[in-house]
Amino acid sequence: MMTITAKINKKNPEPEIISQAAEIIKNGGLVAFPTETVYGLGADALNPQAVKKIYEAKGRPSDNPLILHVANINQVHELVEVNETAEILMKKFWPAPLTLVLKAKNIIPLQTRGGLDTAAIRMPNNPVALALIEKSGKPIAAPSANLSGRPSPTDFESVFNDMNGRIEMILDGGAVEVGIESTVIDITNPKKILMLRPGGFSREILEDTLKTHLEVPDTQSKKRSPGTRYRHYAPNIPVFVWKRGEKFPEFNNSAYVGINEPEIKIKEKILFSNIKDFAQGLFAAFRKFERENFSCIIVEWPEGNEDISEGLRDRIFRASRN
Ligand code: AMP
Ligand code: MG
Repeated sequence: MMTITAKINKKNPEPEIISQAAEIIKNGGLVAFPTETVYGLGADALNPQAVKKIYEAKGRPSDNPLILHVANINQVHELVEVNETAEILMKKFWPAPLTLVLKAKNIIPLQTRGGLDTAAIRMPNNPVALALIEKSGKPIAAPSANLSGRPSPTDFESVFNDMNGRIEMILDGGAVEVGIESTVIDITNPKKILMLRPGGFSREILEDTLKTHLEVPDTQSKKRSPGTRYRHYAPNIPVFVWKRGEKFPEFNNSAYVGINEPEIKIKEKILFSNIKDFAQGLFAAFRKFERENFSCIIVEWPEGNEDISEGLRDRIFRASRN
């Protein structure tokens, strides 16, 4: 398949390009597009054949449900049973890297929700993504636009490497801002809200707003969020974690990424000045070191409770757990 690529203005997306991409979505094709978290691989969420193509293009297990992306809150009512908690969070925070899991209505095909009776919904905070959803007139199902298991793509080049020849179109909206995926919470039972996946939206803000603790899912609910079972976010070379205060791991031909200086001389390093930049640059660093044929990557374990640190720790943990 020939993949069309188009540069697009990320603040003021060109209407002709959005129209072309929206036509592809309406006709059941696949378009990769930028969101504020990572690049998404989008299809019409209500078209089972289109959704099937997402799983094929990514090599994603078909029981791993997709997030439906919407452009306004009205759209949500057609898709899921909206409760009061959902109303509060959508009004207060959307568009944001915050995904809500709610009871699905039958309009959402089982393929999109991995056979579950719930569905995950989010409004992305990116003008290109919002324009595309709006113009296609459909909710867009979109996992990250990488081959299954690989680090999520945070720039056009990473999407191109994984998806060229597999999908109809890629929109190049430059580098993303957040760099890791959305926070996913299950609010089907407002008395027991579950943190299914930490990510770009802070737990603390949610707990302050809802005046409740977000619980870790038990084994039963983990089964209900199959994505958390799979190996994820990992480059092709091993990732090792270094915690400050512990002995620095020594390997031949290793590269380092973190905030603090590595304790030994190392061939190549990427240093960030804060947690936010670390999250934004982590996956790109993985891909860069892999391309440059390093034997392994040492990543600093980020401490602290700042906004995105829980999500960042989750991604580093998963990438290193092979
Ligand atoms: P990804 O598309 O790779 O960013 O992954 C989406 C995440 O959302 C996965 O971890 C899924 O397990 C989770 N998710 C999507 N839909 C649901 C759902 N209906 N119930 C629970 N988790 C979901
Ligand atoms: Mg993904």
